[in-house]
Amino acid sequence: MAEFTMELNDDQKQVRDWIHGFAADVIRPAAAEWDEREETPWPVIQEAAKVGIYSLDFYAQQFFDPTGLGIPMAMEELFWGDAGIALSIVGTGLAAIGVLANGTEEQIGTWIPQMYGDATDVKVAAFCSSEPDAGSDVGAMRTRAVYDEAKDEWVLNGTKTWATNGGIAGVHIVVAVVDPELGTKGHASFIVPPNTPGLSQGQKFKKHGIRASHTAEVVLEDCRVPGSCLLGGKEKLDERLARARERARAGGGERLKNAAMATFEASRPAVGAMAIGTARAAYEVALDYAKTRTQFGRPIIDNQGVAFQLADMRTQIDAARLLVWRASWMAVAGKPFTSAEGSMSKLFASEVAKKVTAQAVQILGGNGFTREYPVERMHRDSAIYTIFEGTSEIQRLVIARTISQMPIR
Ligand SMILES: Cc1cc2nc3c(=O)[nH]c(=O)nc-3n(C[C@H](O)[C@H](O)[C@H](O)COP(=O)(O)OP(=O)(O)OC[C@H]3O[C@@H](n4cnc5c(N)ncnc54)[C@H](O)[C@@H]3O)c2cc1C
Repeated sequence: MAEFTMELNDDQKQVRDWIHGFAADVIRPAAAEWDEREETPWPVIQEAAKVGIYSLDFYAQQFFDPTGLGIPMAMEELFWGDAGIALSIVGTGLAAIGVLANGTEEQIGTWIPQMYGDATDVKVAAFCSSEPDAGSDVGAMRTRAVYDEAKDEWVLNGTKTWATNGGIAGVHIVVAVVDPELGTKGHASFIVPPNTPGLSQGQKFKKHGIRASHTAEVVLEDCRVPGSCLLGGKEKLDERLARARERARAGGGERLKNAAMATFEASRPAVGAMAIGTARAAYEVALDYAKTRTQFGRPIIDNQGVAFQLADMRTQIDAARLLVWRASWMAVAGKPFTSAEGSMSKLFASEVAKKVTAQAVQILGGNGFTREYPVERMHRDSAIYTIFEGTSEIQRLVIARTISQMPIR
């Protein structure tokens, strides 16, 4: 008989409690300060490195958890601590995953350790794909990578925007166009090593939320990187481009598109889990507050108007987690995402986070509107989840196209 359980095993519970402890003792107490400073919380990242939460090993262990729940569990706990600080801690992982997914063994061994540095000298890395005119529409990307055969170097030119850790990172991973005729199939990713001339930081954005996470433009002006910095290597790129040209000639391309889609479907639940962390944090504050705040001679939770809001908040958070866990399990079990279940989980969880944090502000009344209480920050932070890693509208587009098999626009 097939075994089915929704209970975390003892190892998972231990890891969850360990991460939760770090989030409660180190991240949460630092949250208001770094939000106000709008700066990368280097000392907190360093603490995370010391205890082993800021390292490739940590993510690899969660990633290879055979139930698929390692990553969502870790994300939920870290983002429960604080979204801005947690993004500063996991932002490097976005770049590292780019190398892990497409890099050669040599590239993985050389560059990933440099992305993290070590506890005495921590580094961060950045993943640079978005551009001013290419956000949801990745196909509009203009940053060009041209191969200089004589020198075996790639020359990068263009402007990237919204890069988490952009400009303050040691290693930057830059996505660029190598063959404009092929649309997104003509893109390739490059490692830009620390201190490479031609890469500079443009404006740093002053943001509404997740303010402890650095977000900036990255400008590439005749930025030369060695041939060995093309992720996956030249041979693999040439083969891939030849296949894409062949498919384009034959009017195909679907299989390649599906492979890219599967990657997104597998990574989006992690963002859903981040949103659940923020939502759960705000819900907990609101529940405690509602039990202790007295008006009209009784705790405000005595009113159904308040209690029912909390019931809805908790129900939605749990429903979001079930969608995230289902999609995460599907990814490791190799189940096809026939209804875009990964996108579904990100869409639902991110919308829940926005709604639940707004309800938390309401339950705290005037206090909810001040920076004396954390729900104000959580509400601002939650707005990012429906925007990055594909906006809610793009998730709906993906789901609608997948379930209908129609070219919905
Ligand atoms: C804090 C932050 C951190 C980020 N970190 C990174 C990073 O590290 N690396 C990186 O590469 N990028 C990063 N991004 C970029 C992020 O992924 C983009 O902002 C996102 O993809 C949306 O692109 P856009 O901002 O250009 O919005 P647009 O694409 O211009 O969208 C504007 C609005 O139009 C809607 N819209 C667009 N097209 C359609 C359509 N076809 N149908 C219906 N509605 C549509 C969108 O849903 C949205 O509501 C980050 C962004 C932020 C804000």
